[in-house]
Amino acid sequence: MTGPAVVLFDLDDTLFAHQRSVRLGVSAHRRASGGALAAADEVEEFARWHALEEHHYTRYLRGELDFLAQRRSRARDFVAPYDLDLTDDDAADRWFDDYLAEYERSWSLHDDALPCLDALEAAGTRLGIITNGDIDFQTGKIERVELAPRIEHVIASGELGYAKPDPRIFEHACAVFGVAPSDAVYVGDRLNTDAIGAAEAGLRGVWLDRSGAATADELASAAASGVLVINSLEELPVALG
Ligand SMILES: [Mg+2]
Repeated sequence: MTGPAVVLFDLDDTLFAHQRSVRLGVSAHRRASGGALAAADEVEEFARWHALEEHHYTRYLRGELDFLAQRRSRARDFVAPYDLDLTDDDAADRWFDDYLAEYERSWSLHDDALPCLDALEAAGTRLGIITNGDIDFQTGKIERVELAPRIEHVIASGELGYAKPDPRIFEHACAVFGVAPSDAVYVGDRLNTDAIGAAEAGLRGVWLDRSGAATADELASAAASGVLVINSLEELPVALG
């Protein structure tokens, strides 16, 4: 079987089990904090942490906050209902670093990631990552979960000044690989940011809908952009073959 020339992947929640690590990390950090924060409802607190991450990380990607400031904002807003004072930057950084230590302890890949990469490599496909994030932080993850030897290039928005779904990041990645966008595939868990963004830059967009919760509107948008929809990375090599 001959695969596509280049397949590029999103990192968080596509190859890397980010949400699972975040859930375990927040839970452990809350328990270690003690008091009312430790006793709070697990599901509600994870939902609150996740919403704050989405909110402040999007502000970082838009250039409204730098990387450290988005971390401090997440820490401060999260503890606000518990009367913990993280006004001081060092206090906020320490609180976030303690969370990070727990998050990092839980870093892992999705179970379907390596078999998918192996099958693509066997078909002669070159592999890369395009991630919206800080290059050092994302590279640290890639190395820790042993993806590094399989990945030819990592493209991170943090070192470029533009982020997905800006077509420039997809075009830049294709240029780094020396292929035309039409010879590249991009796979990610966010329909608009990843799959449709890539399709608009001329790549083949693939939406990884892990929860299988796609709405009729989402499926219609995917179809209108020529985006392939899969529920697991297991499906990818055959779908592209
Ligand atoms: Mg993602």
